Amino acid sequence: MNGHTGRKIVLVTGASSGIGAATAERLAADGHHVVVGARRRERLDELVGRVSAAGGSAQAVDLDVTDSSGHRAVVDAVVAEHGRLDVLVANAGVMPLSRLDAGRVEEWRWMVDVNVLGLLHGIAAVLPHFTCRGAGHLVTMASIGAHEVPATSAVYSGTKFAAWAITEGLRVESPAGIRVTTICPGVTTSELADSITDPLAREAMVAYRANAIPASSIAAAVGFAVEQPAEVDVNEVIVRPAAQR
Ligand code: NDP
Repeated sequence: MNGHTGRKIVLVTGASSGIGAATAERLAADGHHVVVGARRRERLDELVGRVSAAGGSAQAVDLDVTDSSGHRAVVDAVVAEHGRLDVLVANAGVMPLSRLDAGRVEEWRWMVDVNVLGLLHGIAAVLPHFTCRGAGHLVTMASIGAHEVPATSAVYSGTKFAAWAITEGLRVESPAGIRVTTICPGVTTSELADSITDPLAREAMVAYRANAIPASSIAAAVGFAVEQPAEVDVNEVIVRPAAQR
């Protein structure tokens, strides 16, 4: 069986702000049912309210992607309720940038936990269902940082290179019914830079992030990949501000 055309059941992680929230709104506007997960439940409830008011279909779930069994439980519950999960948008991420010589080991661990292990927990949760149906779509939110390594971005870019590689590895290992897409955003308006605590990195980001595109621009790229017919696999999309160098 190939992937569902028409209305899909989609789980978006990290949907409480920025790109995840915009993606959920976009996919709901496209007619899909979106399950929105993150830790800030009140933000998710507001998002579900906005989607519903616009005539869309959404539900909120508590989800911390660093909790492997919790992630699996969320996915299993979606499949139990809706009979399937068509798309996982593995979007949750953090970006506490700093130079390596700042030695912020705890922040490195945090990035690896959320950006790499969180993605792997999502894959571990959905793959049994995708494999059973022979269909499913993983959309990974990597970054322009999967292609370049600015100063202060060694570890963050490392996690995004990893996200790129893991997603490509899933493509290579999977049957044709399972599709994978890596989205690589450039500077996009969101709360992401709020997680930077290092003063030098914060300062550097002011100039780097001066030109930003709205999160809806990234959501449109997700929408494009999701709406393709089952035989078309959009593997990577880089979307950045035209003025970004
Ligand atoms: P935001 O900070 O606005 O959103 C990040 C989201 O991740 C939030 O919804 C947050 O929700 C969620 N999150 C963080 N930790 C966890 C966790 N442990 N479990 C579940 N959810 C979590 O930033 P963006 O929208 O920009 O980031 C989305 C993705 O886009 C990230 O992967 C980021 O790396 C990537 N990206 C962003 C770019 C940009 O310029 N904005 C550029 C390139 C890539 P909560 O805290 O409620 O759990």
